[in-house]
Amino acid sequence: MDLTVHRRAAGSPLPEQRLGLLQLNLVELDPVAIVDGTRYDDNYLADDVYACGSMREMCPICEEGHLQLVLRQRSVRVAHLFCLHCTRCFGAFLPDGTPALAD
Ligand SMILES: [Zn+2]
Repeated sequence: MDLTVHRRAAGSPLPEQRLGLLQLNLVELDPVAIVDGTRYDDNYLADDVYACGSMREMCPICEEGHLQLVLRQRSVRVAHLFCLHCTRCFGAFLPDGTPALAD
């Protein structure tokens, strides 16, 4: 469950190049496509989804909370960022378009 930053250049990332300090482009994802869950009237809920930590990035939609990092796990098919406040899911991409989250 390593958090890996894809880099085009070889070599070890410098501390300041680690994920938390990168400028990430956030793209809203459809939770149905990335999390195994059950759709209710207005909600899409999944059991046993664990957030691994809080990100520096705020939610770009509601701007109410820091995004939570959710890595791939039993009911999560794609690592993503999650807003607890509005329950939206986001993919994170580097400025060159490379996915920032991998596992
Ligand atoms: Zn939000």
